Amino acid sequence: MTRGWQLTRGDDGVDARLLDDVGDPGAGDVTVDVTWSGINYKDALAFTGNPGVMRIDPLVPGIDLVGRVSASDDERWSIGDRVLLNGDGAGETHHGGLAERARVSGGALVAVPDSVDDRQAAGIGTAGFTAMLAVLSLEDHHAELDSVVVTGASGGVGSFAIALLARAGATVIASSGRPEHAEQLRRLGAAEVIDRGELDREGRPLDTQTYSAAIDSVGGRTLATVLSRTQQGGTVAACGLAGGTELPTTVMPFILRGVTLAGINSVHCPTPLRERAWQRLARDLDPDVIDDIVTEVTLDGARSAADDLLAGRVRGRIAVDVR
Ligand code: NDP
Repeated sequence: MTRGWQLTRGDDGVDARLLDDVGDPGAGDVTVDVTWSGINYKDALAFTGNPGVMRIDPLVPGIDLVGRVSASDDERWSIGDRVLLNGDGAGETHHGGLAERARVSGGALVAVPDSVDDRQAAGIGTAGFTAMLAVLSLEDHHAELDSVVVTGASGGVGSFAIALLARAGATVIASSGRPEHAEQLRRLGAAEVIDRGELDREGRPLDTQTYSAAIDSVGGRTLATVLSRTQQGGTVAACGLAGGTELPTTVMPFILRGVTLAGINSVHCPTPLRERAWQRLARDLDPDVIDDIVTEVTLDGARSAADDLLAGRVRGRIAVDVR
């Protein structure tokens, strides 16, 4: 018996149920007894039946999972190993982490770093992993970190991006639509908090050069404005689409200012880069910072947590206790 959430499509939309047994865990060469999962923006979309996320029917949602290997046909993994998975199609094209057991591909698993416990690993989850990939991308592009803007700052990716950038010595400008969280964003390491309306506006493709680099989880006009204000030679890491998928800009920031737009994809990420990112997360994130960002719910509470996330009522990250 595997207790967990199952999504099925019906005539009236998607049906989300917490079942005592979700049945066959599906294909994969490693079985994981899941201890913790999380609710990401994508998981919240899955609960609505979004066809871009819910790619199989029925689906166990949950793009993140942490747990112990209980069976393995992959020689890299043995019974009892403590592992985590972010993305790789979990909770989209095959069953994910919001159930007590998952069957996954050993090739995308990462050993949980010793200094990180299961709850912390799930709290960091895809959001923290994505933020880390974005910071590594800025570093790999030799971006100056003296004025880095982070958009969608109160969200999961944004919150971890602020903490990780501050740890890397950056001066961080946090852009948020929720002034009530400004104090917490400063505590995470933001030097300044601006209203997201300052970036979410129509503007010229080239504006005053303000930011040396950026981590953007909003997209749309916000990303276009960030590009227009990025300094000569700067890098913008594009992670998300919380504000829209379009990109109303021109080639000007790229050809006149040498700006680099670096795409971040946590789902299809090579394993060596996954391991590099998790080693750095373990090194750079203080437990206090993780606690400050993460709230916990039980498996029963996953559905309403997903609703809250889509309604903009969540600050930071939600970890789900699956035990
Ligand atoms: P959250 O919902 O936790 O955070 C998104 C934040 O964006 C919100 O907290 C809010 O921040 C801001 N926001 C929300 N709606 C709007 C809007 N209409 N206009 C402007 N800002 C808005 O999501 P995550 O942090 O988990 O994910 C952020 C984005 O990144 C999502 O689009 C997600 O799909 C994507 N993503 C991409 C990944 C990848 O591999 N590329 C991996 C993980 C996530 P505030 O209130 O502070 O303004």
